Formats: sequence, structure tokens, C-alpha cells
Amino acid sequence: MLNDLNVLKCQRPKIVINDKEIFEKDFELIAGPCVIQSYEQVYEVGLKIKKLGGKILRGGSFKLRTSPYSFQGLGLEALKILKQVGKELDLITVSEIPNSSYINLFVEYVDIIQVGMRNMSNFELLKQLGSISKPILLKRGNSATLEEFLLAAEYIYNEGCRDIILCERGIRTFEKDMRNTLDIAGALYLKRLTKLPIIIDPSHATGLSFLVSDLVKISKFAKFDGCIIEVTNNICEAMCDKEQALDICEYEMLVKSL
Ligand code: PEP
Ligand code: MN
Repeated sequence: MLNDLNVLKCQRPKIVINDKEIFEKDFELIAGPCVIQSYEQVYEVGLKIKKLGGKILRGGSFKLRTSPYSFQGLGLEALKILKQVGKELDLITVSEIPNSSYINLFVEYVDIIQVGMRNMSNFELLKQLGSISKPILLKRGNSATLEEFLLAAEYIYNEGCRDIILCERGIRTFEKDMRNTLDIAGALYLKRLTKLPIIIDPSHATGLSFLVSDLVKISKFAKFDGCIIEVTNNICEAMCDKEQALDICEYEMLVKSL
């Protein structure tokens, strides 16, 4: 492991968005649909997040799907819905950027820009995102080593960005019954190495909704900074990742149990 990286020596960032500090000391649970399908969907989920004391709403807009035949997201319309709901409910918003040509759009529409696992090694994108003043949620590539993950964060950091959140979302192994293998030990190791906030994505790590709540509890117990999970209002109608989504009641039970 390299030990002279800036992301290993840096201070913990103080991330303040719309006068709200996040990842300060609380365990942050980021929730929302895999893909934004309608205003009503996002509002209903957002309202529940708000009522239960959450601060951050996620929602997919331009989806990077493995298959070109899968639903690709509502694009700009999704970003408009997310921004609108974020404003109405005073929630911080997160959405994944597809490539660097969308930077201006994302700067205008979302509070935290997510770099998904497929883009973790898109170094030009990382450099460009590092030079704008927006917090970046960086997901680990599904075949990236911890060192490669930290080097990706270093690309962002070296352009000036300090507000970087690292997300472990599972890596690809020989295991077939789960979508990925959650590298909880790797994430714990990262926690020893860097002061950047580290969150866990049990939804994409497992692909199985019935494992999500327990993994959120484990993440809290292990003193990670938070989790990002997929929650939607109508699972039957979900057009992406429905097997891993919690419905609003399950989400409520989870939050109350934390
Ligand atoms: C997502 O969060 O919607 C997503 C696609 O995640 P990942 O990049 O981890 O697959
Ligand atoms: Mn998803």
C-alpha cells in the first residue's frame, strides 16, 4: 500500500451543504430510488426520509446500465425532479454523473455528485470533478483494489476538492448468489488509513433487499460514517434494481431500529 498519498494524510473534511453539516458525527443514511421515475415517487420517498430525520436523498438520473436494452433513466427530467423535491423538503441531493460532458448540468442540479463504480477509473472525469466546488461521492470499482480506490480519490483531491466521500459497494468475486461481495474488511482497513468519510452500499453489494437492513446495522456498529441504500415507494413498478430495494415501510422500520 502506498503511504505517502495526500488522501492518507489529509484532515477529515467539514462538509456543509445548505447550512447542514454532514458526516460530522452522526451515521448518515442516504436513501432513495435507484432510478427516478416520477415526481410522486421521489416526493413520497423524500417525505419519509425527512419525517424520519434523514438529510440526504439519492436518485438515479442518467443510468449507466450494463445492457443497452435496460431503462436508461429519465435524464434531465430526473435531475429536475430531484432538485425540486430537494428544495421542497430541504434535503441534500445525490445523483450519479455519466461522464464529464455533464459536469455543468450536475453542478446546477445536484448537491453531491456521485461517481459510480463504472467511472472510478475515468481519471479525466475525476480530475475535472476535483476542480469544481462540489462534494464528490466516489464508489469503489467492482474490481478495484483498495490502493486503486485511494488513487482514484487522490486524483480528485489533487485538483483541490476536499469533500470526498468514499463508498464500498461490493467487489466481484467467485460468489454467484449475491450481486457482489461486500468487502467490509477492506472498508475497515480504509477507515484506519484515511480520515475521509467512508460509507457502505449494501444494496449494490448484495443485490438482495432482505440483507440490506442488517448490513446497515452492522455498518453503524462498525462505526462507518453511513450507508447509501435504495428505497422506493412501489417496488413492483421499479424499473431498475427492484430485488435490492427497500419499500418505504421497511425503510421506516430500519431507521427506527437504528
Ligand atoms: C447506483 O448507486 O445507482 C449505482 C449504479 O451504483 P454502482 O456504481 O455502485 O453500481
Ligand atoms: Mn441501483
